[in-house]
Amino acid sequence: MTASARLLIVGPQGSGKGTQGVRIAEAFGIPVVSTGDIFRANIKGGTPLGAQVSEITARGDLVPDELTSEIVRDRLSQDDAANGFLLDGYPRNSVQVGHLDEFLTGRGEALDAVILLDVPRDESIERLRLRAEEQGRADDTTEAIAHRLDIYENETAPILGMYGVRGIVDKIDGVGSLDEITERVFAALAVRGLRVEN
Ligand code: AMP
Repeated sequence: MTASARLLIVGPQGSGKGTQGVRIAEAFGIPVVSTGDIFRANIKGGTPLGAQVSEITARGDLVPDELTSEIVRDRLSQDDAANGFLLDGYPRNSVQVGHLDEFLTGRGEALDAVILLDVPRDESIERLRLRAEEQGRADDTTEAIAHRLDIYENETAPILGMYGVRGIVDKIDGVGSLDEITERVFAALAVRGLRVEN
């Protein structure tokens, strides 16, 4: 059985946040809400949303905030997210933080913790290059990778300041084995009273 947890995982592209997010969410029994995955599924499925966002995501640019926030609000309104969720890739700038705050406050909820996976830029680039070889993602070209990391540093990293003043950021060393990193996250969440049983 699990405790409810409302989590956000943040880190540069290539930090392993997707992989860690899935592990953490599974342990807590909460759904992962990944905006990148939602966009990719729509592009693959040829939906109107997919058509709207395919060029934007291939360039490594951000999808418009209002559209992205609407998608997240819809997803978080589904039953399986009532007791918690793990957000991956959203919010990604200060405007989106505002949108999420408004939505959660309206439901009498708040994020419990923001997990920051800390990985040096060189290491992120190297991991992304390997992933590009393995998976052939459209936005894993050298230019798009550099562009996405720039957006991360300029727009996403500052949201940590906004959450930092609330005292909910856990900075986790993202270099190590998958299991080591997962254990570091669990240890940090346990300090907040967010525990996985067994
Ligand atoms: P990710 O898998 O999280 O790196 O997301 C892949 C791409 O989807 C990003 O490079 C953006 O083009 C788009 N995307 C994902 N999340 C967001 C977001 N919160 N706001 C705007 N665009 C996003």
